[in-house]
Amino acid sequence: MKATAIVLAAGSGKRMNSKVHKQYLLIKEKPVLYYSLKAFEESEVQDIVLVVGAGEADYCKTEIVERYHLTKVSAIVEGGKERYHSVYEGLKAVEASDYVLIHDGARPFLGQDVIQRTLHAVEEYKACVTGMPVKDTIKIADEEQFAKETPKRSDVWMVQTPQAFSFELIYEAYAKMLQKEDTSITDDAMVVEKMTNKKVKLIEGSYRNIKITTPEDLLIAEAYLQSNQED
Ligand code: C5P
Repeated sequence: MKATAIVLAAGSGKRMNSKVHKQYLLIKEKPVLYYSLKAFEESEVQDIVLVVGAGEADYCKTEIVERYHLTKVSAIVEGGKERYHSVYEGLKAVEASDYVLIHDGARPFLGQDVIQRTLHAVEEYKACVTGMPVKDTIKIADEEQFAKETPKRSDVWMVQTPQAFSFELIYEAYAKMLQKEDTSITDDAMVVEKMTNKKVKLIEGSYRNIKITTPEDLLIAEAYLQSNQED
């Protein structure tokens, strides 16, 4: 079986309030994106397709891929306006793979245990996403921001990446969705849920697998890295 990781790093990171895109911000002197790529470099995944912002491919090649000897990166392509455009560009660059693991480059704490669980699950279910049960109570709001509903906490998961699929299934689902330009799409599982009959399995991710989104996430990231080094 061949599995390819698509690592997404084409977002602008508006919520970070920084001139530097969040995937290039440094944690312990190395860019966030380095850690996400290294997780796949050290895994059983054979290839990595890296999706970057317009005009950033050369920078990523020399400053990240070559500098840190990330030998599994087989293609660096430019992404698009929305995350789903970037995923589709990544899918087009995948070479003959049975499975793809789609991962946010802004999640640098992806552990080998999570990658392994994902690889096993995708073989069995063909469509699976990592996530964790929520710790907080979640409220569904109405249009005027009054609490409308309180779903049972044990049924509510926060979804993470990797999200993994058989290549054929996800490629066809994305091609179909892009014809419709459905702008409500926020993750890959949604594309499969909306465009196919395939059920998506939720599998255990990790509470550490955070997405670097706002400035305080960098403080948490430094603390995680510190504790990893002490383990
Ligand atoms: O914006 P958000 O935090 O949801 O982005 C999740 C991931 O998707 C990030 O790693 C970001 O770089 C990537 N992304 C992308 N292309 C976009 C938007 C986001 O590759 N147009």
